[in-house]
Amino acid sequence: MIEKIDIHLHPIAGDPGLDKYLRIMDKHNVVAGLVHGLPQEGWEWKMGDTNDQVVAAVKAHPKRFYGTAVVDFSRGVEKAVDLVKKYGDKGLIGIKTFPNVGFDPNEDQYEPIFQELEKRKMLVFSHCGWILENETNRAMSLQSINGASPFHFEVPARRHPGVNFIFAHFGGAATYLETLVLTSRLKNTFADTCPGWGRWVFENDLPGLKSMPRHKLLYGTDNEAELYGMDDEWWSKKLTSLGFTYGDLYLYFYENSKKILGIV
Ligand SMILES: [Zn+2]
Repeated sequence: MIEKIDIHLHPIAGDPGLDKYLRIMDKHNVVAGLVHGLPQEGWEWKMGDTNDQVVAAVKAHPKRFYGTAVVDFSRGVEKAVDLVKKYGDKGLIGIKTFPNVGFDPNEDQYEPIFQELEKRKMLVFSHCGWILENETNRAMSLQSINGASPFHFEVPARRHPGVNFIFAHFGGAATYLETLVLTSRLKNTFADTCPGWGRWVFENDLPGLKSMPRHKLLYGTDNEAELYGMDDEWWSKKLTSLGFTYGDLYLYFYENSKKILGIV
């Protein structure tokens, strides 16, 4: 079984500290995971503040779980910077953003947030592409794809080479080419292959994927659980068909994320 790091996990209701989930990871040789908070604008999480749930998982299982706090820039720059400080102090290593709630990370006004992140050597992990609407409350602003693609991080990524930017779901379906452009040009940009769109672009063998820089691709699943077992084979086959070597597969499943998480 291939040694893996899952760069895209979330807290789970009814599994505080992610104890149960960790047992599934053990079974499938997933040695570590990066856990992300969920947007308040989203659905019913039934577990209080998800950022605190992330902290709980990291505290319960250090070296296995690393975490990011969800930060909504549209609630104001000051509030965002305070959240970076608060959860940075609690040991989280980055922020998770959902620009779908209605902001464009490229705007100059958000510069203080990125400055604080760079000072603390924290990373940015962004949802990219389509997002499910909040069906119970459609007034909640979670239904726009605007802002949620890699090019909307180009300005901060150029200005802050010390901050790593990870584009979830391979940067989204329609915008996956933005992922290929940025990851081949900027050292501090990465992408995960999280389902749906992250996997979808590979399932459909979309043009250009062969050129994906090998040091920039990360294994992530949005809590795959027992499906982990099937991933070893599927992704190995798929990436090999795109010209990845055995060494490249190792980078994808493990080594690239290991560097980002600072695991020694
Ligand atoms: Zn996710």
